[in-house]
Amino acid sequence: MNKRILLAAAAALALPLPALAQTAPLDPAALRDAALRDDIAWDITEGLTTEVGQRLAATEAEARAREWGARKLKALGFQNVRIETFKMPLWVRGEEKAEVLGASAQKLTITALGNSGTTGPKGVEGEIVYFPTIADLQMAPAGSLKGKIAFVSHSMTATQDGSQYGAFGAARRSGPSTAAAKGAVAILIRSIGTDYHRNPHTGVTNWPKDVKPIAAAALAVPDSEQLERLLKRGPVRMKLLITPEFKGEAESGNVIGEVPGSDPDAGIVLVGGHLDSWDLGTGAIDDATGVAITTAAAKRIMDAGQPRRTIRVVWFGAEEVGGFGGEAYAKAHGGERHVFASESDFGADRIWKFTVNLPESAASLSDKLAVALGPLGISRGRDLAGGGTDVEPILRGKVATVALAQSGLRYFDYHHTPDDTLDKVDPVQLRQNVAAWTATLAIVANAAEEIGPVEKTGRE
Ligand code: ZN
Ligand code: ZN
Repeated sequence: MNKRILLAAAAALALPLPALAQTAPLDPAALRDAALRDDIAWDITEGLTTEVGQRLAATEAEARAREWGARKLKALGFQNVRIETFKMPLWVRGEEKAEVLGASAQKLTITALGNSGTTGPKGVEGEIVYFPTIADLQMAPAGSLKGKIAFVSHSMTATQDGSQYGAFGAARRSGPSTAAAKGAVAILIRSIGTDYHRNPHTGVTNWPKDVKPIAAAALAVPDSEQLERLLKRGPVRMKLLITPEFKGEAESGNVIGEVPGSDPDAGIVLVGGHLDSWDLGTGAIDDATGVAITTAAAKRIMDAGQPRRTIRVVWFGAEEVGGFGGEAYAKAHGGERHVFASESDFGADRIWKFTVNLPESAASLSDKLAVALGPLGISRGRDLAGGGTDVEPILRGKVATVALAQSGLRYFDYHHTPDDTLDKVDPVQLRQNVAAWTATLAIVANAAEEIGPVEKTGRE
């Protein structure tokens, strides 16, 4: 049909004009099926983890990763590629040794938690006080840990939705500050993980302003159970040498690239993952695959035709140590009209569920997503979608989102360990992720519907 006649017909019927007036056809089903043969995401994941390796926030390695990312985005044809830097405190790992003293003298495998304090070069010795759960530690009387080493365990198990990380992860996030406030000289926790390898899991811990950081480390799961068995036999004394350092302010940054849309008034669609990683492995599943999946999906849309909305891809810096990149992005760009934001930060195993948080005006997108994602084995969940650390500051402004939930069944076997390496990424499942993200972007970035603010913000 002739476009002029179509517009006249639309006007007569009072149909929304933009739907008919613009946008190249981006067929979600065809793009989805083509993406099942994607090699872009693997290329990014393989390149970043091989050529840069670990990318601890605010270090020289993370700076190299930003340069690598900007070069890659330009080579892929993204527009307005730039690095936006910001300052943040730098924390670096030192020595980390733990040994049981006395009749059962033996070494145990530990790693310092991010933001851990130091024992000093001579180390500390103390009696272990055992807490089966974080709740037991919280109930310990004030001052009862003076001169002692707290030890907190938990019973995290692998689940498809990874939901136990939230609850049991509290041992890592707040256990150290709780133990410090009660007088402990140091704290050990059972690794927040679900494997039985002798690999401790690091991860960030937080200190309120009025609590002086103490040495805080995670035991590998087998070593944690070893310590529990020793404690059943009688009191245990340990010596710890944990010497990380805070090095003052240093530079981190976000890497940004765009697929410009045809309608500048339709708002920005923001997607991405985080570029930094912990220093133990090469940050393959956390989160090279996240930047790779979202970038590959945006590139596939770019190659298929101009979308209505600008797709902005962000490789966020310094997520692991406190979400600095997401906050810096929101500070710099929060005033721009974002209509959608979503991130990939849960590895690259098969996506099994999607949830949405959409305004009434764009509610029909949920059905379109169900149609496009169903053939990939992805079903619609009922919860209100939230975002992860990086896009959460933007979502707070009542921005719409879709969450694509990956299987967490093996994620916490490798998360934050030396074993987070490329070989853990399954290329077939990685492609399924790219297919789901490509279909989602095809629908959201090109929707004729107005995507206004949502009523309330969901939680991740
Ligand atoms: Zn992550
Ligand atoms: Zn992480």
